[in-house]
Amino acid sequence: MRKVALVFVVAVFVPSLVLAWLAVRSLRDQQFVLERQQSLLYQGVADSLAKQAENYLAERQHEFAQQVETMLANHKSQDIARSFDDRLRTNWPLAEVGFVVNSTGDMLCPSPAGRPAAQEFCADYSRFLGNRESAQVYWNANSFSKMNGNSSPAENNSSQNSQAQSPQIPALANNDNRGENTKNGYISKLQQVQVRNVVPQQQSLAAQGDNNLGQYSKVASSEAEFRQLIGDSSEGSVARFLENKLNVLLWYRSPGDSNLVFGAQIYLPRIKADLKTIVQQLDPALQEDVAAVLLDDAAKPVALSRSGFQADWKHPFVATEVGEALPHWEMAVYLLNPAKLTQSAHTLKVTFGLLIALLLLAIGVGSWLIVTDLNRQLTLARQKTDFVSNVSHELKTPLTSIRMFSELLAEGRVTEPDKQRSYLNIITAEAARLTRLINNVLDFSRLDRGEKKYNMQPCDLSTLVRETVETYRPHLEANAFQLVCEWPESSISVQGDRDALAQIVVNLLSNAEKYSDGRKEILVQIESRNEPLPHAEVRILDRGLGVPRGCEEKIFLQFYRAHDSLGSGIQGSGLGLTLARQIARAHGGDVVFHSRPDGGSCFTLRLPTPMKS
Ligand code: ADP
Repeated sequence: MRKVALVFVVAVFVPSLVLAWLAVRSLRDQQFVLERQQSLLYQGVADSLAKQAENYLAERQHEFAQQVETMLANHKSQDIARSFDDRLRTNWPLAEVGFVVNSTGDMLCPSPAGRPAAQEFCADYSRFLGNRESAQVYWNANSFSKMNGNSSPAENNSSQNSQAQSPQIPALANNDNRGENTKNGYISKLQQVQVRNVVPQQQSLAAQGDNNLGQYSKVASSEAEFRQLIGDSSEGSVARFLENKLNVLLWYRSPGDSNLVFGAQIYLPRIKADLKTIVQQLDPALQEDVAAVLLDDAAKPVALSRSGFQADWKHPFVATEVGEALPHWEMAVYLLNPAKLTQSAHTLKVTFGLLIALLLLAIGVGSWLIVTDLNRQLTLARQKTDFVSNVSHELKTPLTSIRMFSELLAEGRVTEPDKQRSYLNIITAEAARLTRLINNVLDFSRLDRGEKKYNMQPCDLSTLVRETVETYRPHLEANAFQLVCEWPESSISVQGDRDALAQIVVNLLSNAEKYSDGRKEILVQIESRNEPLPHAEVRILDRGLGVPRGCEEKIFLQFYRAHDSLGSGIQGSGLGLTLARQIARAHGGDVVFHSRPDGGSCFTLRLPTPMKS
């Protein structure tokens, strides 16, 4: 038993506890896992919107280049250079100011004496575009070779990272006074990485760890002159903050006349209106959970996917920067109901928690059932062994007597008739005991296999009990028992198997005799009752050992003996009461035990009687 318990603990219980512990540990990370999944999903949305905005800007760049090429195809470049501002604004509404600079840094257009916007532009940009002053700008550029390779505008629009790692950063390389290679330029550029205005929730979480780069912008600015920036590139964009106001310039150099650089200052309200349509294209399925917002460099909303939406603009759930053409502009995604995530994580936690608890409970109950059953089986096995030795002994004792007395009689050594009669009585009694035992064993095995058949027929219970008791009386009286019977005046009719019912009475009488303990008094009562339902009661009472406390029900279990052979010296198989109860129940009745107040036992056989009409 101890070995089985040990195997059970090692093989089942400990692994279950370890599994449950692991499951509980993983529960604690559920919220993080959920947030991570959501952030990956919405980061994809923000990335895709930012990419669309970037593509939109690249298309405008391409459009601008086409405008310049169309003008150059129809007119001389020198003519266009002087009237470029007017021509461009007429044909291309996105332009706020058109400008042209030549390779020596002269600004050919617009005229510093022109319209107010042109004057302002010249004041702001003539020194920078004329390479007489360097400025803090965000830029990107495409080379001639790329342009000639027919690549799409989107592909041509290099990202900040690829640009930073690209070998074509002459401006930065030259800017570095040590005259080193692009690697140093890249390093100096990284040093100018800006802090983001917007800190997405996911990145701020990451920043709490080791990697606090999460709070920095990927879009970096450079300090350079215009000429240094454009190098030998064919087109690009330059963004610059002037008095905290963003200015975006697009420029283009025609392969036909690389001396002239055509450019345009972009009219930002127009761009904003166009980008609004991109933001509003957010998948309707997602609109129930999130809002997409285009934020400008000051983290102010420029365009919203859901009108009237309000949030802490500086703390979106996830955000992606649009790129260096619109530095620090971000496509941000906000959760409409941030508490929903915590709620889902909580629900998930509770559900899993309950499942684990249920599993542990099931394992606990299962283990308890297994251990109880194991215990029962072991007790049963022990009882069966006891039963075999008890039955062998019970068979041997009457057989020895029968053999001894029959030999004495057969040899003719006993001549007195009284002695002969007494020996024959002993032989008869011992044979009856043997028959009873064998009947019990046989009946038990039949009942156990469900093969026992009852021959049910109407019979008078009072007569049946009286006959059985009277058959047993000589044996009891021969052993000095005082047997008192209280018979009813009228007959009690029951439906039953006569032999089976007689067997119950014999078993109860035999027990009253066996467990008498010197006080040899047996009382048999039989009466008919009407409460709660009409039934008959046969009571067999003795003044013997009585049944120990706590064993009142156990004595009806198979092989169970409250007074075992070793302790009491009383032989038995532990089957008599089991059979009596099974037979009674098969008749719709029962056998129950009550202890008597002045010592001894009372076994009652109850059988249903027909209702009186
Ligand atoms: P057994 O062959 O052991 O008598 P039973 O099934 O007839 O088997 O009885 C089961 C146990 O009930 C007995 O071992 C005994 O301990 C207890 N018992 C039965 N009848 C009596 C009684 N009249 N007085 C005291 N104990 C009894």
